[in-house]
Amino acid sequence: MKHVNLLILDDKEENTISLSALLSEVEHINIISSTDPNEALKICWKNDIAIALVDVQMPEINGFEFVSLLKSNPKTNHIMAIMVTAISKEDKYLLKGLESGAVDYLYKPLSPEITVAKVTSFVRQIHIQEEIKQKNIALEESQRQLILAKEEAEEARRSKESFLANMSHEIRTPINGIVGIIHILRNTPLNDEQRDWINRLDSASNSLLLIINDILDISKIDSGMMKIEYESFSIHKKLTDINNFFKIKALDKNLAFETDIDPQLPEYIRSSPIRIQQIINNFISNALKFTEEGKITLQASVMEQVGSQYTIKFTVADTGIGIKPDAIEKIFLAFEQGDDGITKKYGGTGLGLAIVKRLADLLHGKIEAKSTYGEGSAFSFQATFEKVDDFRPEETIDTTAISSLRKFDNVRILVAEDNELNSFMLVHILKSWGCEVDVAKNGRIAIEYVNQHDYDLIMMDTHMPVMSGFEAIQEIKTHPNPQKAYTPIITISASVLQHEQAAAYEAGADSVIGKPFDPIDLYQKIDKLISKRV
Ligand code: ADP
Repeated sequence: MKHVNLLILDDKEENTISLSALLSEVEHINIISSTDPNEALKICWKNDIAIALVDVQMPEINGFEFVSLLKSNPKTNHIMAIMVTAISKEDKYLLKGLESGAVDYLYKPLSPEITVAKVTSFVRQIHIQEEIKQKNIALEESQRQLILAKEEAEEARRSKESFLANMSHEIRTPINGIVGIIHILRNTPLNDEQRDWINRLDSASNSLLLIINDILDISKIDSGMMKIEYESFSIHKKLTDINNFFKIKALDKNLAFETDIDPQLPEYIRSSPIRIQQIINNFISNALKFTEEGKITLQASVMEQVGSQYTIKFTVADTGIGIKPDAIEKIFLAFEQGDDGITKKYGGTGLGLAIVKRLADLLHGKIEAKSTYGEGSAFSFQATFEKVDDFRPEETIDTTAISSLRKFDNVRILVAEDNELNSFMLVHILKSWGCEVDVAKNGRIAIEYVNQHDYDLIMMDTHMPVMSGFEAIQEIKTHPNPQKAYTPIITISASVLQHEQAAAYEAGADSVIGKPFDPIDLYQKIDKLISKRV
């Protein structure tokens, strides 16, 4: 244990000697004594004195004054002063000493036991204080480390975010081109063999897109960037769409597909239709993948209703290969599959259910898996939703052949896009809708075109060399010619990040379209924007 310096100040040397002798049995102290208050002050300034035993009656500076001097100096105000006095035990002296900053009194003639006990207790107190001080320093240090670690984590999150934004753009841009060209090719005369090639190309590019979307989804959720967008929608229509889509796929595998909807299921609910569909699609895709014969059932049941709050359970049951009991917990972890043979036989990344589990958490719901190995499985998602009563869904154009859409009349569009494949595909689609199209390879050229011609609409890619889409939009939207400044702009963003889409709106875009985009969606957006023309 560290030794504590103790000062004895008494104008009579015999007193300092006897007190030193008395305290010699106290452990962990170094005794320094003085008969001169001025010299004692210097000792206190220069040495790390922790306790001072101060005689009250001294010529020149008395004990009270001496303690006041110690207390008034930041270098010495921590010293514990104990007054040693023979004068009186009356309260006024006691108070005077305490007011000057002393912590205790010793009365002459000194009782050896009390003196040793008091000093020992103060030494212990100082040791405890020292320990607290050290712990505080350690605490401050660990707090500093924590703040540092938090900043580092924040920095890592930011770089992950920008990596995500870049990667999603880089990968989705060429896929957008491939998917678009497939759309175009489908609308040209093809022989059977060519149609088969196109179908294979379509299925391969769709799988690639699914894998990329899965990887992006899981990274987005894990970095806290997945925002659930709530809206009112018809859950009946959603389930019918899912049923229609998967019935054909099940038929291809000679499987029966049934949908069983609880009559209590409300027509409209408020939630995220995309995420609910993603969860159910995942269950059904797995059921299709792991079932060779029998049937797949999609069931929607109302489990509880409290006012307008409906607890709904969506279950997908199959008669497939089932899952071994020891694997069932594992399958919700990212990159985990039922057993090692699964990858070889069925493929897959093991991401599907991990995403489903995270999405269910984001929707405040729960996932359940029941399975009998060799007989089949049932996966369910249950959550509570709000029923919506007065809701009118927007009319949607229900057509899939892009070339059969009504032609636009006298519409001139500027496409600002640096990727050749994408601009080629976009120009082709726009021309098939009767539009006149110009192409600019970057934002700067786009501005020049806008200055030279009048456009009905501009389609602007966000990431472009020389001048980015955002800068070009800002410049167009502040154009001195109001006619040009009002030109509607649709940004084409390959990023899955919401803040990037928000940035496009902030820059002045009138609408945003993702990559790869659905041509029908683009058609509707263009139709809406140009119908506002004056
Ligand atoms: P994957 O892309 O590998 O299918 P998932 O996360 O969707 O990844 O599924 C993880 C694993 O769970 C699968 O590899 C499979 O072993 C098991 N699994 C999921 N659904 C079923 C099902 N309906 N029947 C049997 N096994 C299933």
